[in-house]
Amino acid sequence: MNEQLARAAELVAAAQRIVALSGAGISKPSGIPDFRSDSGVWRQHNPFEVASIQAFQEHPERFYDWIRPLLHTIQQAQPNPAHVALARLEQASRLATVITQNIDGLHQRAGSKEVLELHGHLRSATCIECGRQIPAEAALREVERGRVPRCSCGGAFKPDVVLFNELLPQGLFWLAQRAIEHCDLLLVAGTSLEVFPVCDMPALAKRHGARLIIVNYDETYIDSQADYVFHADVAEVLPLLVTTALGG
Ligand SMILES: [Zn+2]
Repeated sequence: MNEQLARAAELVAAAQRIVALSGAGISKPSGIPDFRSDSGVWRQHNPFEVASIQAFQEHPERFYDWIRPLLHTIQQAQPNPAHVALARLEQASRLATVITQNIDGLHQRAGSKEVLELHGHLRSATCIECGRQIPAEAALREVERGRVPRCSCGGAFKPDVVLFNELLPQGLFWLAQRAIEHCDLLLVAGTSLEVFPVCDMPALAKRHGARLIIVNYDETYIDSQADYVFHADVAEVLPLLVTTALGG
């Protein structure tokens, strides 16, 4: 693997407009479970019964009971060496954008500035009745006390994350697509590429002439078309790749 890593690092070193595509696998070393996989939080509940937009509208209290432990885990979590490595690539003006499926904000906390959060984030919340948006702190304090955060109009505040059956923010989707079309290297970091729209992004990048490096614990459907594939821990491989590429 060392020689393969050295050659992949040459690709990183030669690239000028890298885009990283990250998913649950990059936050796992920070202790955040993959809440779409069949382990952890998802196992006890069918997510569609508690975390779809329809379920939230009918039973916000069930949604908050379900997400409370996860919120606590996310608040305690720290960025890991994989997040830091991507921030370093951006600081070195090699990486243009991180496109992430994660809602935990760990890329920004590691120092990344250009982050497209396809599934939203926990920094703000919006009333599902009147659309009033507030910073999330006050709402999350209510959740910690076991209550549903409510707007003065009586509607429930929903964190600005994309729930099941909810559309992705369209503007973000186009920005992500544009970033993919303009990148010269797509670095897949900790996603198995099973969910729309990220599943289509490696093929789109390749159609536009980009190289492809995949770092993910499990196989992906497009491994055979990648320049380099590492079925390993992103928190180990990414720092090695970036340090080798940038030197020192
Ligand atoms: Zn309201």
